Amino acid sequence: MKIETLAIQTTLSHDANAGAVVPPIYLSTTFEREADGSYQHEHVYSRASNPNRQALEKSLAEIEKGAIAFAFSSGMAATTALFQSLKTGDHIIMPDDLYYATSVLVEEVFAQWGLTLTKVDMTDLGEIKKAIQPNTKLLWVETPSNPQLKITDIEAVSDLAHSIGALVAVDNTWATPIMQNCFDLGADVVMHSTTKYFGGHSDILSGALIFKQAGELSSKIATIQKLTGAVPSPFDCWLLLRGIKTLPLRVKAQTANAMELAEYLSNHPQIEAVHYPGLTSHPQHEIAKKQMKGGFGGMLSVQVKGDAKNAMALTGRLKLFTTATSLGGVESLIEHRKSVESPDSPTPENLLRVSVGIEDIDDLIEDWKVALG
Ligand SMILES: *Cc1c(COP(=O)(O)O)cnc(C)c1O
Repeated sequence: MKIETLAIQTTLSHDANAGAVVPPIYLSTTFEREADGSYQHEHVYSRASNPNRQALEKSLAEIEKGAIAFAFSSGMAATTALFQSLKTGDHIIMPDDLYYATSVLVEEVFAQWGLTLTKVDMTDLGEIKKAIQPNTKLLWVETPSNPQLKITDIEAVSDLAHSIGALVAVDNTWATPIMQNCFDLGADVVMHSTTKYFGGHSDILSGALIFKQAGELSSKIATIQKLTGAVPSPFDCWLLLRGIKTLPLRVKAQTANAMELAEYLSNHPQIEAVHYPGLTSHPQHEIAKKQMKGGFGGMLSVQVKGDAKNAMALTGRLKLFTTATSLGGVESLIEHRKSVESPDSPTPENLLRVSVGIEDIDDLIEDWKVALG
């Protein structure tokens, strides 16, 4: 089945009690046990498993074409669980441009537990090779990357990682499985901040880890999920399952809008640079074309001529783009990224990150035209 069909089929309810097409929400934290000690419905306690979370995890695994999925209370909780599966002394390689909190998590929290990190330009395979150490256990990929939309060749990085016995995890939040299938390209683990496109309406905080194969590592994650308890609530799982139904439609509309907006802005004299993998001028456009089979996504960033203040002022003149962090919702958002990261982040000071929504593209372009003057 194609992903559009899976998005509907994997989110239908099979409710034996009432025949409900939309699943009920199971708020119960605890489940009845039989006199012989067994659990007729397999659930015991909601931190370990819950019917809404179970349905969500099944859908996530199928949509991402993985074997098994685990839902978490945020994207960062999902990432944390994967890092917790590593051991003291293990080394991670990450891209130099990525969701800022991911590398800070290693540098400020997991460094105390003995994890080490090297950040490299992952568009350059030679740089990755140079960063490999005997204890390198994980190559963390984020493509397109936040906020500069650099593209990493997932297939090449996976081949390299597997040649040294390391794992490849891809933060697939920005591309979604609609754009790119990381497992087909060789990755072992996919992470999502489902807060973004999966939820799609900026009203749920949640995350997921999906594994290409069930095995020792996925069992370890199951244990970590159950014991550390960073699980989404039944209502969050229900909302997310509802969001998945329209994921393909929304993301395709956002991608079409982003492509047009990127083209318009790349020809505007007030714009210094547009970062969007769909533009032929993007330095890794050919790799993007190869691995982003479903399109180039709904995210772009622009560098506005002038300084940080100038870029920030532009966000105030745009009427259809709400100035706010986060992304992937149906509404267009814009954000001055450097000032929410840190003064030592490599993000250019004149960069604005744009999450393109599903509004009419002519209206969106007109808004930029007026704002840029
Ligand atoms: C938002 C985001 C995260 C973090 O997810 P949360 O749900 O906010 O914890 C990680 N990676 C990327 C690419 C993101 O956009």
